[in-house]
Amino acid sequence: MAQPIRMLILEDSEDDLLLMLRALRRGGMDPYCERVETAEGMQAALEQGAWDVIVADYNMPRFSALAGLDIMKEMGIDLPFIVVSGKIGEDLAVAAMKAGAHDYLMKGNLSRLVPAIEREIREADERRRRRQAEEAMHTQFIQISTIFDSLNALVYVVDMQSFRLLYLNKYGAQLFGSAWEGKFCYEVIQSGKTVPCDFCTNDKLLQDGKPSPPFIWEYQNTTSGRWYQCIDRAVRWTDGQLVRMEIAIDITERKEMERMKDEMISAVSHEMHTPLTAMMGFTEFLLENEVNREQQVSCLRTIYKETERLNELITNFLQLQRLKAGMVKFRIAPVAVKLLIADAVSLYAAATKRHSFTVECPEDLPPVRGNEEQLYQVVSNLISNAIKYSPEGGEILVGARRDESMVTLWVRDQGIGITPEFQEKIFERFFRVDNTDRRKIGGAGLGLTLVHEVVAAHGGRVWVESRVGEGSTFYVSLPVMG
Ligand code: ADP
Repeated sequence: MAQPIRMLILEDSEDDLLLMLRALRRGGMDPYCERVETAEGMQAALEQGAWDVIVADYNMPRFSALAGLDIMKEMGIDLPFIVVSGKIGEDLAVAAMKAGAHDYLMKGNLSRLVPAIEREIREADERRRRRQAEEAMHTQFIQISTIFDSLNALVYVVDMQSFRLLYLNKYGAQLFGSAWEGKFCYEVIQSGKTVPCDFCTNDKLLQDGKPSPPFIWEYQNTTSGRWYQCIDRAVRWTDGQLVRMEIAIDITERKEMERMKDEMISAVSHEMHTPLTAMMGFTEFLLENEVNREQQVSCLRTIYKETERLNELITNFLQLQRLKAGMVKFRIAPVAVKLLIADAVSLYAAATKRHSFTVECPEDLPPVRGNEEQLYQVVSNLISNAIKYSPEGGEILVGARRDESMVTLWVRDQGIGITPEFQEKIFERFFRVDNTDRRKIGGAGLGLTLVHEVVAAHGGRVWVESRVGEGSTFYVSLPVMG
């Protein structure tokens, strides 16, 4: 059966068209064709119809094959374009091919027309398929990079031989800069490095030239200091080559939590050990020895002090854990700071002989918004520290006043004070200013952390003013109940 074909023919001569059609039919084709002989005619025909091929006469009175080629290009159309000419001339053929024609043949040799059309249609099909495949790949690439760009993780692809970066997602570009293309992975990601990293995973990703299962590992980036969990594997890149892809998830927070947990466990157990050892020693002493009443009282006092210390440690520790984990919903109500202060002062005043207490608090102090039990803990931790860190005794002043929408309360002592470099650090977990003077004073470094956490959870602020050898004043500001 004759092969149907839709041809657009740029030709001024009706006779030549008939000759062409005869040659096509002889060659087994069933042509549908339209003849145009002007630029406008060609444009209109291209806009209206879907064509398989364009055959153009080299020279026409009002048009030409080369002008036809220009129109086709301008319209962004890729169709087989065959030039036929009455004249023999290599220069004309070269000019036509240079301009983008796919073939050039003589009107006297029209038997070549059918094979030329068939070949060019095949090639145009091939070109179209390739273009579609490339477009599909490009679209897929864009879709995948959109996904990778939206990830809160670093994703990159590296040529395993040259170590050049082939892809870096947005997260990576934000971390390491957007000028990564063509650079070495170690240069960009481990900034400043000039040779591949000694922990490079390339050799772990292939086995007998085939991709191995993903290699999962953790590392700390030398530039940012952050911890990553990395999943590395060899994947086939767009050019068919095996490349290394890494997905690195920031686990700094998790690492920090783990570190803190370990640190906490060792610090708490260490801190528990000290009072327990003392308690055991003294009870053992009491059990095994005949002791007089005076000695008994002295031992029991020490045991009691150590029990108190242990109790304080455990209470602070548990409170802090609960607060951090957001486990408990605390009841919020108006809290009278004046009463809190009075309660805490009367309790602590009874427990110390070396210190005198003064309270400065206006009658009309408004209540603050908060949880009474937690805020009592804050005041009591501050007073307990004021006593602990003024071993020579002195006055402890506890006060409060209204500052616009806040109530500020303070605890002032005449103790050993804190050097400026540590005045912020003391609020960190387990931080204790370490000098020989203080080592004698017990504590786990959790009290001020708890104060800080509670105050922050209440929308307030805590800070300290202190001079070494003169004393410290801790301030807490809390929002007034409105
Ligand atoms: P702890 O008292 O259990 O060590 P805190 O978290 O309450 O833990 O305090 C942390 C550190 O801050 C203390 O070890 C001490 O060095 C310092 N500090 C706290 N309060 C005072 C204070 N009133 N005067 C001097 N130093 C203080």
